Amino acid sequence: MVRASRPLPVRVAAPYIRRMAEAPNLLQPLDDAAFMRMALAEAEAAAARDEVPVGAVVACDGKAIARAGNRVEQLNDASAHAEMLALTAAQEHLGSRVLSACILYVTLEPCVMCAGALAWMRIGRIVVGAEDPKSGFTRFGRGLLHPKTRYETGVEAEASTALLQAFFRARR
Ligand SMILES: [Zn+2]
Repeated sequence: MVRASRPLPVRVAAPYIRRMAEAPNLLQPLDDAAFMRMALAEAEAAAARDEVPVGAVVACDGKAIARAGNRVEQLNDASAHAEMLALTAAQEHLGSRVLSACILYVTLEPCVMCAGALAWMRIGRIVVGAEDPKSGFTRFGRGLLHPKTRYETGVEAEASTALLQAFFRARR
């Protein structure tokens, strides 16, 4: 029997997707800051699991369809970044490997691996919290992304940075 290489993220995301589908329509559509705060909540949950606090949300048609925090330690998988887990769950949810109608909200600038995945998935838009000059993909240039992908940074950046700083300070 072939086992899925990463069964966990889908299981983790599934109850959330159900909850979102059942939620009553909001009077006002969620804005970027609201989705980023959802991603920050995932980052906080990651910190509580002793994971580097990074969180991600994938939104489509104004609704969050997947959310995840970093699970590199738990899964013993260096590729289990928050973005990868949320993107995998979003593709599963939509039944599509193309996410051109979706927005990724992520608390920290994606690495090169995640930027590559985002290019393959042709994500419509990426909204980043804090920039990551050390490990972020933009030090290699934004050309790593699909040409149609819109890219923005600085949404709730202070909150994201504060979480990361507190995490690493506590570990010193
Ligand atoms: Zn990454």
